[in-house]
This record gives sequence, structure tokens and C-alpha cells, in this order.
Amino acid sequence: MAAPDLGRIVADIYAELAPRIGEGEVADYIPELAQVNPRQFGIAVITPEGEVVTAGDADRPFSIQSISKVFLLTLALGRIGESLWTRVGREPSGSAFNSIVQLEQEAGRPRNPFINAGAIVVTDVAMAGHSPREAIGEILTFMRYLADDEDILIDQAVAASELATGARNQALGWFMRSFDRLDHDVDKVLGVYFHHCAIAMSCRQLARAGLFLAAGGRDPVRGHAVVRPARARRINALMLTCGLYDASGDFAYRVGLPGKSGVGGGILAVAPGRAAICVWSPGLDGFGNSRLGGQALEALARRTGWSVFG
Ligand code: GLU
Repeated sequence: MAAPDLGRIVADIYAELAPRIGEGEVADYIPELAQVNPRQFGIAVITPEGEVVTAGDADRPFSIQSISKVFLLTLALGRIGESLWTRVGREPSGSAFNSIVQLEQEAGRPRNPFINAGAIVVTDVAMAGHSPREAIGEILTFMRYLADDEDILIDQAVAASELATGARNQALGWFMRSFDRLDHDVDKVLGVYFHHCAIAMSCRQLARAGLFLAAGGRDPVRGHAVVRPARARRINALMLTCGLYDASGDFAYRVGLPGKSGVGGGILAVAPGRAAICVWSPGLDGFGNSRLGGQALEALARRTGWSVFG
């Protein structure tokens, strides 16, 4: 197949969806996110060859929220390798991202690293040998390295807002603690968790940070290996099966790409060998996924033929 004209495709998709900017509901359970203007929409596509195509608000930082879970998983696998899977599973949960029900049924072991309970365990693993402050610093340094951009920051107002209203996540943490599933103090783990969810990045920065997942684990721009090819493949597999909350199956059906969404309205998607893509629009659907973002990715996959299912 001839290389798709990405500039044309992205401009067309943006123009087609622009009249619908503002659709959906912004997340309101984190007060600081409820303040976000829903009338924003950005797209960034970056290829391993270095082509960068953007549209709309692609350079405006937003709260990455659960998209951070992909990068924490990468860090935790780097720390303890495959033994991570003794602490967290690899199956879609079929229940809400913040659900506590399965934890009781499965002895406090979360179903996968992309639901909140799983990400709290992954955060606990990534903290080994670090104070919370050092762990947050290490995560931020990793994001800046991957995005090749030193300007990435944590939005402290969002982190404080999550901490103040995070009763559900506290409950998940303490519940897992009751099964002896955490190595560190629950409050410290949650502090680190809330801070990495509150990292602010733009579509361009997130697509750049995810590029290694589209390039067999290498940063193709700098020529460094971030992870081995098998690990990139496995992270992509988890994104495909568990990355879009309870709509992961529907996303695989409609889009056919590994992805990870966050309640800030971002979705990072990976077309292996082709591109890393980030879309952002704060209006969410009933599952907590960006409404316009999902539509944009569906159109992009259709127009490029990038679905992993051929
Ligand atoms: N920090 C958010 C929470 O734990 C992440 C939610 C999300 O993006 O899924 O509630």
C-alpha cells in the first residue's frame, strides 16, 4: 500500500469533526478537571521516520490522567521484569476503572495494570528504593526523556484536587493493603499515583513519548532502545485489550489499534511500525473515553488502513 498522505488525512479528519467540538461531558469527579473548557480538540501523529503531523490544539498541555499508566507499566517492568505479573493480572476487567468488587474476589490482586487498583500496585513497584519525591522525579524525568522535551510539568492543582477527593482510590489502596499487596505506605503510594496522573502534556509530546511503542521498543529518532521488542509488543497487547476502560472491545472493533485513554480526554494510540498518535478533546462518552478523540482515531485507522487486524 502506498504511504498515506498523513497531512491531508489529519487535516480532513479535523475539519470533519470540528463542528462537533464540545460534545460529551468533561470529567467532573476531579474538581479541577471540571473546570476544563470542553471546546478543545487536538491531533498529533508521529512516524518512526520523523514525520510529524498535527491539527488543532495539538500543542496545548492537558492532564494525561490514566495515560500515565502506560509509562508506569514500562518503568515497573524495567524494575522487576515479568515478575510484575505475580502482583497484577493481564486480563480485561469488565468492570469500571475504579471498581473494588473484583479485588475482594481475587485476593486483592488487580486484574490489569490499567485499572486504578492495578496502576496503584504498579506505582508501588516503581517506587522501590525511592522516597515518594524521588519516585515522582524519576517518572517526570522518564516522560521528559521519552518526549524529548524538558518543559513537561506536573499540574500541582490537579494533583491536589485528586488527593482531596480521592476517597475511592484511597479505598482501593487500603483494601489491597489488607491483603498485604503493597510494599509502601498507602498514602505515599497514592501521593505518587496522583502526581503521575496529574502530569500535563500536549498531543505532540504524548505521541512523541509513545513513539517507542510504534517502533519495536526503540526511540527511532535518537536510535536508543527504550525496551526490547518483545516488551513493546506486550505493552501494546495490554493497551489493545485493557486500554479503554470498559469500551476496550468496542475500540478494538472500531479502531483496531492499541490505545490508552485518560479522563482528561486524551487517547494515546499505537500503530505498530507506522506511527504513534495522540488525540485530545475533553468531552467524554459514558465510558470515560474522549468522544471526539475516539471518532478521530476511527477515521484515521480507516483512512490509513493501520488497523492491526489488517
Ligand atoms: N487519576 C484518575 C483517578 O484515579 C485517573 C482516572 C483515569 O484517567 O482513568 O481517578
